[in-house]
Order: sequence, then C-alpha cells, then structure tokens
Amino acid sequence: MEACVNEDCILCGICADMCPQLFSLGDEFAEVIVKEIPSEHQECCREAADSCPTEAIEISD
Ligand code: SF4
Repeated sequence: MEACVNEDCILCGICADMCPQLFSLGDEFAEVIVKEIPSEHQECCREAADSCPTEAIEISD
C-alpha cells in the first residue's frame, strides 16, 4: 500500500495526529513519511484517509 497527499490538503493536522508514524505537516501540504505503508499501519492510514476533511489522502494498493 502507498499513500500520497494531493493539493486539496488544508493542513488541518488530523492525519499527522492520527498516524504520526505515517504523516507529517509540510509547508503547504501534509507529507507521507514512508513510501510503502507497513502492514501494521495500513488500518490507521485508511482511517486517516476517511477522516481527512478534504479527501486529500489517496491510497493505492
Ligand atoms: Fe491535509 Fe487531510 Fe491531513 Fe488534514 S487530514 S493535514 S487536510 S491530508
């Protein structure tokens, strides 16, 4: 699984709060820290994507 954050990100910080091991806040958008999401963090990643207010987190398997 991989994840990326698109330009709809408003830097609300929810993803970084929910999954600090996966997301951090950059200057303009949130950033995905790891290229391949480890299996133990995939559920957290999906929950963060579902919680993102602008649906800016894109997940690909
Ligand atoms: Fe950006 Fe969505 Fe993360 Fe908020 S939850 S910082 S809008 S990617």
